Amino acid sequence: MRSDDPRIDRHEVDGQTLFLPSADALAEVLAAGELDGRPVGVGRLPDEYRKVTDSVAGLVIALGADRTPDKPWWVYHLVWRTGRYYRVQVEGQKHGCGWAGVTGNHRVMAVYLGADDPLARMRANWDAPTQPCPGCGEALDRPALFVAGLAM
Ligand SMILES: [Zn+2]
Repeated sequence: MRSDDPRIDRHEVDGQTLFLPSADALAEVLAAGELDGRPVGVGRLPDEYRKVTDSVAGLVIALGADRTPDKPWWVYHLVWRTGRYYRVQVEGQKHGCGWAGVTGNHRVMAVYLGADDPLARMRANWDAPTQPCPGCGEALDRPALFVAGLAM
């Protein structure tokens, strides 16, 4: 498949063009294992990312080209907050009050790999509004730009 397929949206996120395939386009890309002739992710990671987005509402998968033409696409999880997309690392958290769920952490440098100057991009997003524990309203142990009430 080509990245200019009409079922693939483009968004500028952290100075990098990210490609957001529709569910059916993503299924085709993963089945083919390539987009624009470039491999998609490494090993089973893209499939595992898709499984997570299938079970957690609000998470989106995006692909980002590496600056080296033949290197695999980077695969990201995004969430829409305050009028834009953010990259997040999906994490499971349990809180002292008993709440457990899935959260998205934007303060992880790994999710900015593929953008220019990942450390600066992480810093630029550092103060994006985090969410409290849905169970008790106190701060969660790890930053949560995104909170899903999925039982763990
Ligand atoms: Zn709590």
